[in-house]
Amino acid sequence: MPLNVPVTITLPPIDCSYTVHTDRQRWSADQLAAEPDGRGALEAAVREGVRKAAPACAYAGLTEADVTVTEHPDDSVAMVGRVLCSEAECHVAARRRHLDAAEAIEAKTAADWAAEKHLGLAPGDIQAGKPRSRGMSFRERALLARMLMGVVLGVVGGLMGQFDYERPASASSASLTVLMGEKADKFCDVMAFPTVVAGVIVFVFALVRHQLNRES
Ligand SMILES: [Zn+2]
Repeated sequence: MPLNVPVTITLPPIDCSYTVHTDRQRWSADQLAAEPDGRGALEAAVREGVRKAAPACAYAGLTEADVTVTEHPDDSVAMVGRVLCSEAECHVAARRRHLDAAEAIEAKTAADWAAEKHLGLAPGDIQAGKPRSRGMSFRERALLARMLMGVVLGVVGGLMGQFDYERPASASSASLTVLMGEKADKFCDVMAFPTVVAGVIVFVFALVRHQLNRES
């Protein structure tokens, strides 16, 4: 069923109004088998449905719909196509329409999808119609790497503080292992505290730098 779902995403300072132009179709195994490429035909029908949902809308007409596929145990396949549209006219028109119970369920999933899509878009991206790749930005990755380094230093420092070499009763004091062990123990005692401090500094510095970057 082709459908237009009004979605308002409240994200201060501005509310963003969108419309999801969508279509869901479920084809039985027989319907799918009737076509040389059943799934291809279903997908094409769904994309056509999205365009039909809003014949006057450029987004619905030109944007490649996101298509999600659900396979059912009875070998039927359902596909949903969705396009996110920021035209005010579409939003107003979609709001005027009363949704029935089945459509209300569809509208709920469409709203969730729109919210997720919205968060993956930079301001202005919707006009260009090109979704930005999801995941962490370079800055966030840099922050995470630096914070991780701070944590690792802190943990290493902590472990060094814990390390205590005890000479086995059987070993003579001239043995190389004992000598190394005692050296390592001394080294750890000296280095433990500065290492923890360095870890904390790296951690805090990473946060401060990230904050400054964000504000600039
Ligand atoms: Zn539209």
